[in-house]
Amino acid sequence: MISRIDLRGHPGDPRDLLPRADLDIDAAVEQVRPICADVRHRGVEALIDLAERFDGVRITGIRVPAEALDTALDGLDPAVRAALEESIRRARLVHRDQRRTDTTTQVAPGGTVTERWIPVDRVGLYVPGGLAVYPSSVVMNVVPAQEAGVGSLAVASPPQAEFGGLPHPTVLAACRLLGVDEVHAVGGAQAVAMFAYGVAGCPRADLVTGPGNVYVAAAKRLLKGVIGIDAEAGPTEIAILADDTADPGYVAADLISQAEHDPAAASVLVTPSEALAAKVEAELPGRVAATRHTARVTEALGGPQSGIVLVDDLDHGLLVVNAYAAEHLEVMTADSRALAARVRNAGAVFVGDFAPVSLGDYCAGSNHVLPTGGCACHSSGLSVQSFLRGVHVVDYDRAALAEVAHHVVALAEAEDLPAHGEAVTARLGAEGGAR
Ligand code: NAD
Repeated sequence: MISRIDLRGHPGDPRDLLPRADLDIDAAVEQVRPICADVRHRGVEALIDLAERFDGVRITGIRVPAEALDTALDGLDPAVRAALEESIRRARLVHRDQRRTDTTTQVAPGGTVTERWIPVDRVGLYVPGGLAVYPSSVVMNVVPAQEAGVGSLAVASPPQAEFGGLPHPTVLAACRLLGVDEVHAVGGAQAVAMFAYGVAGCPRADLVTGPGNVYVAAAKRLLKGVIGIDAEAGPTEIAILADDTADPGYVAADLISQAEHDPAAASVLVTPSEALAAKVEAELPGRVAATRHTARVTEALGGPQSGIVLVDDLDHGLLVVNAYAAEHLEVMTADSRALAARVRNAGAVFVGDFAPVSLGDYCAGSNHVLPTGGCACHSSGLSVQSFLRGVHVVDYDRAALAEVAHHVVALAEAEDLPAHGEAVTARLGAEGGAR
């Protein structure tokens, strides 16, 4: 059901020995290249044809009518509405605290540099909807964008044949709850292309964010530069660092919970305890058989991206999880807090027995759009910061410029760019440049 990888006695860099999806995003880039070109050239017509091809439904237009958003919210199960409202409330608490304030530094008398934090003007937010539906991803995209102060927000989510070519009604209801009125029934790579190039009824965006499958990740990689992107948040990953104090039932349940997302999802247990490994292996078959998405979970757990990794001790385990840089890392050990404090590479860290990844998926207040595929060693999850740009505003008066002019001139000469120096001396006359 899940393979074992024995790294005991391998103290070196474990990266090449770890289980990891052989997801070839570069190959997928070649697959999505014609899709993106088609959207660029044929706009909405291409989007309609692509919906038929990939989502199995012929739609007449891409923009979701306002009445459909109202109807979706009216028809929402009250328990789901209450849960979404609580998820939004907690996410707002956390993301509001991430707001940046401008800082002004007095560099010299009469010379200041201010860093202004300015939200992007328009953002495209992707909400997946292939194998599962993700109203929670509406919350995780929209809340930080709103808290950052982005003026124009558009959501895209795949059209669903079952719902007459509209995105899933719970996705629409979540948009309505959050006050988002621009929603497009567009999925996959074509949604990223729509935001990058703009089509009739959906002007181009400055930035696209949100999770998705390999095609969404590939389109982001292809169109980065045409449009800003967040991290490549592809098929989900959980790593669990646990010792023999961990409850094998919790460990097995958490491995399954992320495997349920996608046959390409990765579930990895890192432990120095053979006893825990054996208990988790014994727990899995019954739980997998009893869960709703048995086939998907079995494929994910059995894939090369998943495994139980045996390590010498917890220090070795820490080295392994830092090398793996999981999207989600759970720490369930005798002293989880102290060990978690030593983690350097993970999209998000979940500490102890009562912080499963599912809590973070929905209601912890943290963001669930997180870097995958090892990108957590250089990228962060979605936050208010993702939607802001820091702009330096340089304000020097004549005296402040005069004070530093000779240094500017010296460096300009050193770079053989004398016109740079002349731009200073032109303002200051004889006093400029000389000292
Ligand atoms: P999705 O919306 O990402 O993808 C569905 C779309 O894929 C379809 O609309 C279609 O356009 C496109 N597609 C399907 N087959 C294609 C093909 N052969 N060629 C080109 N395009 C094709 O939904 P999904 O498939 O359910 O995937 C959601 C993913 O998001 C999962 O892998 C899940 O793990 C991941 N996820 C990640 C995070 C994160 O933060 N990393 C969070 C939530 C979900």
